[in-house]
Amino acid sequence: MRNLLFITTILTLFLLGACGSKPTGQEESTNQKLEVVTTYSIIYDITKNVGGDIVEIYNLTPIGADPHEYDPLPEDVKKTTDADVVFYNGLNLEEGNGWFRKLIEVAGKGDEDAPVYLVSEGVVPILLESQGLEEEADPHAWLDLRNGITYTENIRDALIKEDPENESIYVENATQYIQELSELHEKAIESIATIDENKRFLITSEGAFKYFGAAYDIETGYIWEINSENQGSPQQMRDVIDLVRDKGITSLFIETSVDRRTMETVSQETGVPIVGTVYTDSLGKEGTDGDTYLKMMESNINVIIEGLSK
Ligand SMILES: [Zn+2]
Repeated sequence: MRNLLFITTILTLFLLGACGSKPTGQEESTNQKLEVVTTYSIIYDITKNVGGDIVEIYNLTPIGADPHEYDPLPEDVKKTTDADVVFYNGLNLEEGNGWFRKLIEVAGKGDEDAPVYLVSEGVVPILLESQGLEEEADPHAWLDLRNGITYTENIRDALIKEDPENESIYVENATQYIQELSELHEKAIESIATIDENKRFLITSEGAFKYFGAAYDIETGYIWEINSENQGSPQQMRDVIDLVRDKGITSLFIETSVDRRTMETVSQETGVPIVGTVYTDSLGKEGTDGDTYLKMMESNINVIIEGLSK
């Protein structure tokens, strides 16, 4: 079904192209900015911090939507075709249903030398643990701020490679931003260490907090391990309910970018309340406390500390 939808999208785009709707050179001559496409909002925000006003960024998966499984629109294909640079997370995120690979093929950027950059290059992957998925990487590396720094460095280096004239601007912006990420990382270690060790257990719907848990010394559990698999099967529900009871867990958390109902069922079954909302695969909407990568990480840290201290 997804494939069919995708093919329809592509056909529509070709038809649009054939009708002569391609913009004239006028637009190109007035727009000197480097055109960047990002696959989801977190990479969008990091790129904005490094590129500032001198790059034009178009983001694919909208805020609140799931970057594991996305159906590109005709406009997405057009922007990706026109882009000077494309940034993606990799580590099994956009590969969930293969949408990103198909998109860049159709956009003519499938060759090895195309300006398509893996922002998680250099991150040490944590593997999934569910049966049949043990060989695959967990994508959520950005929830460890040190990996956010790696993303920033990779984005900086790619922008410099594609736009060397503005090297000094990219270096300056990245240096300043890395400083802020690094300060928040130190703060996260210190503040999470204040939570009672017996209570340091974070249960979410998707198992997105492995990197976070390893970085900030907190145990993690989930209903389903990754969004691209079954979500809330009877077996998964039994397992998480057993886990909550066995470990004496007193707080549950819910992510902004998943369906709330499954965790609500866990809460009803166990009598354990959902105490906080956390950001994982998407920034919050503009104006919320999670509308940038730095803010979403800070909000997560605060919500987790508050929720687990109850
Ligand atoms: Zn996810």
